[in-house]
Amino acid sequence: MSRAEKIAKMATMTAVQAKENSSVKRRRKKAKKGVLFEAHKHCVECSIPIPLSYDSLICEDEECKINQEKKEKSRKRLSILLYIGVAIFIIPLIIQLVGALN
Ligand SMILES: [Zn+2]
Repeated sequence: MSRAEKIAKMATMTAVQAKENSSVKRRRKKAKKGVLFEAHKHCVECSIPIPLSYDSLICEDEECKINQEKKEKSRKRLSILLYIGVAIFIIPLIIQLVGALN
C-alpha cells in the first residue's frame, strides 16, 4: 500500500467516524426530547422500564407486587389516621359553633 493510499484510507475512515459521531449526537439530542425512546414508565419498586400501556404501576415481578401491596396498605392506614386526626380537631369546633349559634 502506498503512502497516498494509506492517507486516502485514513481520510475515508475519519469521514465515516465523523458521520457516526454526528448521528450519535443527533440521536442523543432526540433522546433528550424523548423522541427516540418509546414512551414508557418505570416500575415504582424496581424502576425497570415497563410499557406505558401497562395498567399497573409495577412490573410483573412477584416481589414488586408484594412490596407494592404493603406500601398501599400502610398508605391507606396513614390516610385513615389523618382523617381521624382532622375529625378530632374539627368536631369540637363544629360543636362549639353550633352551641354559639343556639
Ligand atoms: Zn418491579
